[in-house]
Amino acid sequence: MKPKRALILVDLQNDFVPGGALAVPNGDAVIPIANKVQPAFDLVVATQDWHPRSHGSFAANHRGKLPGDIVNLNGLRQILWPVHCVQNTHGAEFVAGLDRSRVKKIFHKGIDPWIDSYSCFFDNGHRRDTGLNKYLKSQGVRDVYLMGLATDYCVKFSVLDALQLGYNVHVIEDGCRGINLKRDDSEQTLDQLRRLGAEITRSSRVLASSKAKPVRTALARAKRKISIARPGRRTMARKHA
Ligand SMILES: [Zn+2]
Repeated sequence: MKPKRALILVDLQNDFVPGGALAVPNGDAVIPIANKVQPAFDLVVATQDWHPRSHGSFAANHRGKLPGDIVNLNGLRQILWPVHCVQNTHGAEFVAGLDRSRVKKIFHKGIDPWIDSYSCFFDNGHRRDTGLNKYLKSQGVRDVYLMGLATDYCVKFSVLDALQLGYNVHVIEDGCRGINLKRDDSEQTLDQLRRLGAEITRSSRVLASSKAKPVRTALARAKRKISIARPGRRTMARKHA
């Protein structure tokens, strides 16, 4: 099977865009980018944060607590959030402008009320997996490209897991927006992911690489022939001469 490139659209849901319960600033700006890049991929999947109303990550389910407070949830440190992405509500639905015609499969996370799940692959305690890894492996996927909301939580932890699972991981930077509880959380996240081996790229480069592939291969072959024929001459200089 030819190795495939998969696009993972992370949590492009109403509650994470302006007007939603846990709005990521300018979160809606990534929707046109999601639509634009999808044709460049062999496989497109999407995730949905999908909580029961009783979920332990909601401040409202902890007496006297507010969003932003930290609690211990079943042995794990948990930041409390406003009620968001409750199963089968408008807030949990995909943003209306998102083109879903190419989305092959949807993966839900955060279903268990006792544990949160930022990553698309596992819950925060790595106790249960969503099935995404098994699915991608069954499809022959080697390269995963991630984009979505939010850079500093769900994208970040998905990328960390994808790296650990052995994928070549790419983050489409302009397709992500962060919550930024601290001002530079997103920037720091991207730096960290780059250091750990993820490629930080942009939608324009993803599109260019998918369109230009056969041409570039032919060009590279031609260049190799030229440089073999004329050792010492720089092929780029020849091209522009
Ligand atoms: Zn959530």
